[in-house]
Amino acid sequence: GMTDMIVTIGETLAEIMAEQTGHGFREPMALRGPYPSGAPAIFIDQVARLGHPAGLVSCVGNDDFGMLNIERLRRDGVDVSAIRVAPDQATGTAFVRYRPDGERDFVYNIRHSACGLVSLTDQALGLLDRARHLHVMGSSLFSFRIIDEVATALKHIRQRGGTLSFDPNIRKEMLDIPEMRAAMEMMLQHCDIFLPSGPELMMLTDAKTEDEAVREILGAGVSEIVVKRGARGASYYGRGETLHLPACPAQEIDPTGAGDCFGATFVTCRLQGRAPRDSLRYANAAGARAVTVRGPMEGVSTFAELDAVLAHGAGAAA
Ligand code: ATP
Ligand code: MG
Repeated sequence: GMTDMIVTIGETLAEIMAEQTGHGFREPMALRGPYPSGAPAIFIDQVARLGHPAGLVSCVGNDDFGMLNIERLRRDGVDVSAIRVAPDQATGTAFVRYRPDGERDFVYNIRHSACGLVSLTDQALGLLDRARHLHVMGSSLFSFRIIDEVATALKHIRQRGGTLSFDPNIRKEMLDIPEMRAAMEMMLQHCDIFLPSGPELMMLTDAKTEDEAVREILGAGVSEIVVKRGARGASYYGRGETLHLPACPAQEIDPTGAGDCFGATFVTCRLQGRAPRDSLRYANAAGARAVTVRGPMEGVSTFAELDAVLAHGAGAAA
């Protein structure tokens, strides 16, 4: 039967990062990794760390990068039964290097890795039958086939009265894939909770200002918009309620994954019945804590750790 489970669907990656800042990867350099990664994987690991039922539909290769992820997710309490192990593909990878200005350069192998084989297996359908909420990342919508699978997953969730959250998570490297924009617009139209980062709020609308975008999106039937603003905190727009909260003070070491931890915490809190303000506070704390730890999934938090951040700031908890 249906449980409170939150399910994500999409890419699982091994992430390898340059130790020093700089531009790109055109010379030998010191690298650190592999770390478990992939936006849907980070999101669902954060849900599980909050003690909430969580499951991931994904695909990895029969290799150490896949096992690294499966073992971490399982240890943190994620239902990994719907992570397929594809025998003939390697697990997806992302090489990341920070530039001095905080921007990032990536070398991805996603589309042509095991990630490209994400599909609704019997295990995945079984998981969705028990789920109450589906979270979708724009970064996962990189092929017609996967877009179809995500749409089918959404139909399953809806048939059972479940809800959808959507984080457009636009990576500039993926914007040139033509089918992505249409799929993103479809997800935006169908979601209950929309979780853009600053400029993404307007990217899928005709609006010229943030206020116009908020009105357009709420007018189209989305219940709640949460805008992530990095070190400037976050905003909440619901029907009849607007909130702006500053970020929790934190010493930023590695921002990758902050948005995923933030979103997972907000969605989990709302599903658990917490009010928007309380949910936004916890989400800010999760994002702040995530940036203080090196590695995309290393900075996930328990509620006890979030309470410590809210009491003392993120430096003390790291
Ligand atoms: P990602 O690169 O992971 O996709 P994002 O753009 O989705 O990131 P951000 O806005 O960078 O998400 O971060 C999400 C949240 O994390 C912010 O709204 C804020 O609450 C928190 N956060 C991010 N950076 C900092 C920081 N330097 N100090 C404190 N909190 C931060
Ligand atoms: Mg993001």
